[in-house]
Amino acid sequence: MSRVLVIGCGGVASVAIKKCCAASDVFSEICIASRTKSKCDALAKSLEGKTATKITTAAVNADDKEQLVRLISEYKPELVMNIALPYQDLTIMDACLECGVNYMDTANYEPENTDDPIWRGEYEKRCREKGFSAYFEYGPQWAYRERFEKAGLTALLGCGFDPGVTQAYCAMAAKHIFDTIDTIDILDCNGGDHGYPFATNFNPEINLREVSAPGSYVENGRWVEVPAMSIKREYDFDEVGKKDMYLLHHEEIESLAENIPGVRRIRFFMTFGESYLTHMKCLENVGMLSTSPVMFNGEEIVPIQFLKALLPDPATLGERTHGKTNIGCIFSGKKDGKERSYYIYNVCDHQECYREVGSQAISYTTGVPAMCGALMLLTGRWNMPGVHTVEEFDPDPFLEALEVYGLPRRERENPTPVE
Ligand code: NDP
Repeated sequence: MSRVLVIGCGGVASVAIKKCCAASDVFSEICIASRTKSKCDALAKSLEGKTATKITTAAVNADDKEQLVRLISEYKPELVMNIALPYQDLTIMDACLECGVNYMDTANYEPENTDDPIWRGEYEKRCREKGFSAYFEYGPQWAYRERFEKAGLTALLGCGFDPGVTQAYCAMAAKHIFDTIDTIDILDCNGGDHGYPFATNFNPEINLREVSAPGSYVENGRWVEVPAMSIKREYDFDEVGKKDMYLLHHEEIESLAENIPGVRRIRFFMTFGESYLTHMKCLENVGMLSTSPVMFNGEEIVPIQFLKALLPDPATLGERTHGKTNIGCIFSGKKDGKERSYYIYNVCDHQECYREVGSQAISYTTGVPAMCGALMLLTGRWNMPGVHTVEEFDPDPFLEALEVYGLPRRERENPTPVE
């Protein structure tokens, strides 16, 4: 019997909350708190009579630590699930520390204002020292390790699908399948079609920032950075078929390089269609992906935020999206002195997700692991004071929970390698 505060009420949070409500023996009370309280109220109303979980709602601006501290002190949850945006990670972690509560999120910190001179200074130092230039990284959250450890609190970072489940697949490969892992390729394929000329599957601002950043990967302990979308491969995905995929920088590369000993190379690929890339390039060329404010008719606007207002809300794509996602990891390495290669992945059907929870598969594949991660923390199966990513915990109970709550995995020996 646990009391949980969920911050955010968008596409991913809605799925996570619905899944928590299906496990009301653990999630007995939930407070849904977000910037727009009416969305929390609407979700709570839609769940009335369908769950034994007691749901309340609240308005909170999670950029404001004092508001968060007030809410957490009043509600007294055992866990705060941050399913708002990465911009709020640090204020929510600060509030959790002040109130003595465990924390989790689904995406690592990035600043909303990338022109902030203090952040810029640290960012440029990190670019020089580490060798990748994406705006997001674990550094600012890893800086909380000692404080969480001393407080006896656990912070679980990046517990969606990727990051999240992909790291559990890595932990499973290291625990059960390999003696040593040589390479990891994380492949994220969305074979879904929503019928719009251009839309993103999760928060447009965060998504477009991610995919327009230079690509990078880790090889022999060093970051290698390449221009955005400059490494392209074709792969034949189970249940989806052949798709073009591109090498991206992705946050779990950073933590896996620290936590999986001896790995020679870690890469991340995501599929994109020709039309998506053409739209994105055009928007980038005209400055619509910029995060720096510009003056328009006497008012300051941020181009990427204006673009977000024009694009379809990802939370509304569920009904129109058909097709499947296929996300997983291909490993090469050694077992009992012999070379081995292995593929662990999940296939998820957009329409099946829509029928179950009213969302498309991207929100589903993120919301379900968020709920399962919360389940691990609340039931004490994952309990390690400090700030940790998924691969640092025992993968077995988490993978079992994913099977039960809708994301079963598939496994295959000798998959086709990525060139
Ligand atoms: P949405 O934009 O749909 O939802 C974000 C929610 O956060 C909204 O309810 C929004 O409120 C709320 N919010 C934003 N700012 C604040 C604030 N200052 N205070 C309080 N609430 C706020 O995003 P998604 O659901 O698509 O994504 C949620 C998270 O999941 C993101 O961090 C994203 O990066 C991550 N993600 C992770 C994946 C993974 O596999 N690990 C994959 C996909 C997403 P309002 O309605 O007022 O805007």
